[in-house]
Amino acid sequence: ENTTVVIVGAGVAGLTLGTFLLRGGVDCVVLERRDRAYVERRQRAGVVDSRAVRMFRAWGLADRVVGGVPLEPVLHFRVDGEPRPFRYATDGHADGRLCPQQVLVRNLIDVFVSDGGDLRFEAEGVELADIAGPRPRVRYRDGAGVTRTIGCDVVAGCDGEHGVSRTSVPAGALTSYSREFGYAWLSVLADAPASRQTTMAIHDRGFASQFPRGPGASRCYLQCPLDTVVEEWPDDRVWGEIEARFGEPVAARGPITSKTLVPLRSVVHEPMRHGRLFLLGDAAHIVPPTGGKGMNLALHDAGVLATALRAWLTERDASLLETYSATCLRHVWNYQAYTAWVTDLVHDAGDASYRGAFRRRLARAELERLFDSEIAGRLFGEFLTGLN
Ligand code: FAD
Repeated sequence: ENTTVVIVGAGVAGLTLGTFLLRGGVDCVVLERRDRAYVERRQRAGVVDSRAVRMFRAWGLADRVVGGVPLEPVLHFRVDGEPRPFRYATDGHADGRLCPQQVLVRNLIDVFVSDGGDLRFEAEGVELADIAGPRPRVRYRDGAGVTRTIGCDVVAGCDGEHGVSRTSVPAGALTSYSREFGYAWLSVLADAPASRQTTMAIHDRGFASQFPRGPGASRCYLQCPLDTVVEEWPDDRVWGEIEARFGEPVAARGPITSKTLVPLRSVVHEPMRHGRLFLLGDAAHIVPPTGGKGMNLALHDAGVLATALRAWLTERDASLLETYSATCLRHVWNYQAYTAWVTDLVHDAGDASYRGAFRRRLARAELERLFDSEIAGRLFGEFLTGLN
């Protein structure tokens, strides 16, 4: 069996790439390890930034794939329990959408399948071969247990942080850069509406936040030590701690449906290409969830690769493909820098036990600068919208 591009992973990166390739007249097959119901229910990110919405619009897809309500140009900080709403200055915020990741994924699957796309769920044991040569092969077992092999021109590794694509690259060919922040977030999903689009608490008990995930649900985060035992956080303790850090009651205390511990870290693997294998999204880089950029970086990679592959395959112009890794890494490091800055800011300004009293005062000064300086506020707005 043969195709032009095999895409490993049907997350936001893989599905966006596949959908754009179909529109650009490029054949592809998407292989996904999980079943469709699992992929469509996986709840993670919640904001599609302005840059990403504009990208979907440029491909004629924004109305079909991006759901949700427009973003308000305000972040509701609570500092030491007091409200400090921060209205950011930007021309581009109106395009951003509060769109749960699984809504985007569901819409992308619908569009890809209805456009005639070849999407294969429950593809087990994916293995890549000959990625350094001109004709890679991808082997997997289908849902019936039959082993299949697909020959292709290009493999797109969109299989997330723990996928098979990056680990198929020979040792030493990629360089990894990473930073551990030294604390974690207890991340909970609740059947309880959020009081507003954002609540982000800076408090000496630690950072806390709440964001809507659709009309009746929300995701909350609580900064906590890396060795936190999730079982020691029953629902009442979670809500009580959130309210203590917010300095106000939450809109509603609903049942918590998921609790996980997320250690905060930043990772980049370079280059984002090895031979005919291209890495996208979490397979190539991880950001802490603080800046809301993980999903948006994955979408950016997909747009860059789709444009490059279309130029190469339909116009025989390889120049964009040659610069794929450099183009993406420039964007990725810019947003790594933003994410690291905002992560340090909201944590250091609160609980000083991690990085000390000096850093706490620096972070407080940086926070005040956002309110005092129109230019600082505008820069922050540029990053939030993804238009920097
Ligand atoms: P994924 O969405 O992980 O998709 C990878 C796909 O590959 C999956 O479907 C997986 O099943 C499949 N796969 C894996 N291995 C294989 C294999 N061997 N063979 C075949 N298929 C395979 N980002 C934001 O922008 N804003 C946020 O607020 C935000 N909050 C987050 C909260 C949490 C709790 C988490 C965990 C992440 C959050 N992120 C956020 C990050 C965001 O979810 C990711 O950056 C995004 O999902 C990356 O997309 P992706 O397509 O690269 O990878």
